[in-house]
Amino acid sequence: MENRNKYEAVIGLEVHAQLLTESKVFCGCSTEFGKPPNTNVCPVCLGHPGVLPVLNKKAVEFTILMGLATKCKINERSVLARKNYFYPDLPKGYQISQYELPICEDGFITIASENSQKRIRIKRIHLEEDAGKSIHDQGYETLVDLNRCGTPLMEIVSEPDIRTAKEAYFYLYKMRQIVQYLGICDGNMEEGSLRCDANISVRLKGEDKFGIKTEVKNMNSFKNVERAINHEIERQVEVLEEGGEIVQETLLWNADLNEAFPMRSKEEAHDYRYFPEPDLLPVVVSEKWKKGIAENLPELADERKEKLINNYNLPEYDADILTQNKAIVDYYENVVAFTNDFKAASNWIMGDVLKVINEQKLDIENFPVSAEKLAKLINLINDGVISGKIAKDIFPVMLVEGKDPEVITREKDLVQITDASSIENIVEKIIESHQDEVRQFLEGKEKVIGFFVGQIMKETKGKANPKIVNDVLREKLAKIKNQKSKVKS
Ligand code: ADP
Ligand code: MG
Ligand code: ZN
Repeated sequence: MENRNKYEAVIGLEVHAQLLTESKVFCGCSTEFGKPPNTNVCPVCLGHPGVLPVLNKKAVEFTILMGLATKCKINERSVLARKNYFYPDLPKGYQISQYELPICEDGFITIASENSQKRIRIKRIHLEEDAGKSIHDQGYETLVDLNRCGTPLMEIVSEPDIRTAKEAYFYLYKMRQIVQYLGICDGNMEEGSLRCDANISVRLKGEDKFGIKTEVKNMNSFKNVERAINHEIERQVEVLEEGGEIVQETLLWNADLNEAFPMRSKEEAHDYRYFPEPDLLPVVVSEKWKKGIAENLPELADERKEKLINNYNLPEYDADILTQNKAIVDYYENVVAFTNDFKAASNWIMGDVLKVINEQKLDIENFPVSAEKLAKLINLINDGVISGKIAKDIFPVMLVEGKDPEVITREKDLVQITDASSIENIVEKIIESHQDEVRQFLEGKEKVIGFFVGQIMKETKGKANPKIVNDVLREKLAKIKNQKSKVKS
C-alpha cells in the first residue's frame, strides 16, 4: 500500500502472565493445570457469599521480582481493587485486580529493533486473579470450568512506545524471556499462560498527537501477535485514507480466518466501578522485604549472554541462541564444566540438541543426554578416540539408550583408527583395486581424491582418522605420479 508510508503506528501492549505459584492468589486451591473440570475449587474462588480472600505472599513476591527485573519503582503501599463486571466464567461478578495503586510502576525493558537497541517504558505491573474458562466446543451447550478462577495473573502494561509489529514481537519475546529466567511464569503462549493484548493506533508521521486506538485480543502465538498488529495497522490506514474515522473498540483476532472481528465498542463498554477491595488490606512492601527479594534476583538473559561471550569466547550469534531460554544456557554451562572445548559444546547444542528438542517437543530439563555425557562425547573427539563423524552416529544412540559415549564406543567397536601403518595398508589396498581412478588422477583429475577417501572410509566403517587418511593417500598418489614421470623421462 503506497500510502502506508505516510503513517506511523503507535502500539502499547498489555501482557498477562500466569504466575507459577502452587496455590491460587486468594485461597489455598491448587493451580495445577489439566485437572478434571471444577475440581480445583473452593467457596473462596467460587465466590460464595461471606467468604474472605487471603492474599498469597508468593504471588506478591513474584510481582515485585518482575518489577525489579524491569527497573520499576516498587510502591511501598499498593491497593487491591474490585473490577465489577458480569461474565459467565466469573462467578463472583467482580475480579480482584489493582487500579490506582499497582505494586510496580515506571520501569522499562530494552529490546532489539532494526540493528539497534530500544527502550520500551513500562507503565505499571499489577497483580490480579484470572477468571474461569467457558468451553464452547463440546456439543451445543456452553460448559464452564472454574479451575482457573483465582489463578494469580500479573499484568504488565507498556507505555505506547512501540512503533511496529516487529518491535511488539521483540517486546513480547523479551517479556517471556524475563519471566522464564525469573521462574515466575512458564511463558507458554499456546497454553495461555502468557497472553497479550495490543492497543493500536496510527497517525501521520511527524504528528505529536496519538490517534484513536483499538484493542486487539486473543492472539495466542508470537506469529499471531505480529500478524494481527500488521493487519490492524493496515486496516486503520485504509479507513483513514478513505476519509473515515477509527472507532474505539475491542477486536478479537481469528487466527484461522487471518482477520479481526469487533467484540465490543466503547459505547457498550463496561463501567467497571472500581473500588478498593474491602476484604483485603493494602499491600505494604517494606524496604527489608524488597531487599531480600532483590538479593534473589537471578541473572537475566542479557547478563548471561555477556558471560558467554566474555568467559567462553563464543560469537554473539551463539550467545543469542543459547540464552533464548534459561534452561538451555544452564545446560550449556553444565556441559562446559566438563569440557574445555567451549565452541564445540555450543555447536552441539545449537545443532543436534536443539534439533531434537524442537522436533520432539522436549524440555531440556528432561533431555536424555546429560550435560556431562555430551561433554564426554566432545572430549572423545578431541582426544582422537573417535572421529567427529562417528560421534554423530553415537549421539542418537545416547539419546535412545542414555548410555555413556565411552561405553557405546567400546560396545560398538567404534574407536578411531589412528595408527598410520594400518591406514597405509588400507590405502594401498584401495589404490591397487582402483587402477582406473589412479589413471584419472595421473591425467590431472584431482577430484578422484574424494572418491578414494570415500572408499577408504567405507572400508573402515568411517573409523579411520580423516586427516591421516588424507595425508597418507596424497603421499601415496604423489609417489605413483613421481615414478610415472621418471619412467617417461
Ligand atoms: P485504557 O484506559 O483504555 O485501558 P490505558 O491508558 O490504560 O488505556 O492504556 C492501555 C494501553 O494502551 C497501554 O499499553 C498504553 O500504552 C496503550 N495506549 C494508550 N493510548 C494509546 C494510543 N493512542 N495508541 C496506542 N496505544 C495506546
Ligand atoms: Mg486497558
Ligand atoms: Zn479456591
